[in-house]
Amino acid sequence: MATRDHLRHEMAIRRLTVSHVEQITPSIVRVTLIGDALGDFSAPGPTDHVKVFFPDPATGILTVPELRADGIHRPAEGVIISRDYTPRRFRPAPFGAAELDIDFVLHAPEGTHGTPQDPAGGGPASAWAASARPGDQIAVAGPRGSRLAPRDVREVVLIADETALPAFTRWLTMLPESTRITGLLDVADEEVEAYLDDEQTARASIEWLYRTDGPGQLEEAVRSLELGPDVYVWAAGEASALAPVRRHLKHDVGLRPDQFDVQGYWRRGVVNFDHHAPVDPSDPD
Ligand SMILES: Cc1cc2nc3c(=O)[nH]c(=O)nc-3n(C[C@H](O)[C@H](O)[C@H](O)COP(=O)(O)OP(=O)(O)OC[C@H]3O[C@@H](n4cnc5c(N)ncnc54)[C@H](O)[C@@H]3O)c2cc1C
Repeated sequence: MATRDHLRHEMAIRRLTVSHVEQITPSIVRVTLIGDALGDFSAPGPTDHVKVFFPDPATGILTVPELRADGIHRPAEGVIISRDYTPRRFRPAPFGAAELDIDFVLHAPEGTHGTPQDPAGGGPASAWAASARPGDQIAVAGPRGSRLAPRDVREVVLIADETALPAFTRWLTMLPESTRITGLLDVADEEVEAYLDDEQTARASIEWLYRTDGPGQLEEAVRSLELGPDVYVWAAGEASALAPVRRHLKHDVGLRPDQFDVQGYWRRGVVNFDHHAPVDPSDPD
């Protein structure tokens, strides 16, 4: 049984300031956030996520819900724009400024109207990250809860596209050293490989799959895995690409529900996709 303990956190909505912006790969930018409110930030689970609030692109005004004793309230005015992101790394600093890194995939590079993968392209989060500068303000809510890494599994398979690479790297540090990790990384092209450093690359047996090489590779790679009886599989990325992966794990391999977790982090053509929606609407959990 792959047990993932669950922790609840007290709800917090933190207004934060960009302190640093770094281009990690041509399509991924790391934004470092600071603010007094980070003092009690905690995200101990590999798949933890926060809700990031962005300024309205039309007005530049950042509208954030208010947290009061009786719950969360919408302000009477303003447009609330939020998306889910992974707290890539948190650096607590007992005597200085704590820092939170969030890695944003830029899916509509400046000057284009979408990418070959998504001609509709763009989105307020991606657009904000593409032009983020030190001093910019955003807000971060959560995480509301954490599902910890299972301590009792010998073999883990992690499947991720670019949006799930931050969570992938968290898994690498949060799984016990004795756990054997296989990574299937479904990315646009080889330029994304620079996202991982040598230590991360050495921690897992990684297969990079480039979407530029054509469709169907992820499903084929998953089908060719030799999975042990007690394996744990986590997959996250574009929902429709993961539907056949989930189908295979659930129906062909016959993994138990506690042995796999397949999460749609976005869905092609859907604005602000709700990751609680089923990856495969024809076969919900
Ligand atoms: C739990 C969780 C953790 C996540 N962590 C991260 C993270 O750490 N880093 C990260 O970059 N993303 C992460 N995501 C994904 C991110 O929330 C979505 O990609 C989000 O839709 C981006 O918002 P947007 O405003 O840029 O685009 P939206 O306004 O939501 O969408 C506009 C259009 O862009 C398309 N689109 C959205 N994302 C992409 C993409 N990546 N590539 C191509 N087209 C896209 C949509 O299909 C739509 O057509 C996470 C999602 C979840 C659920």
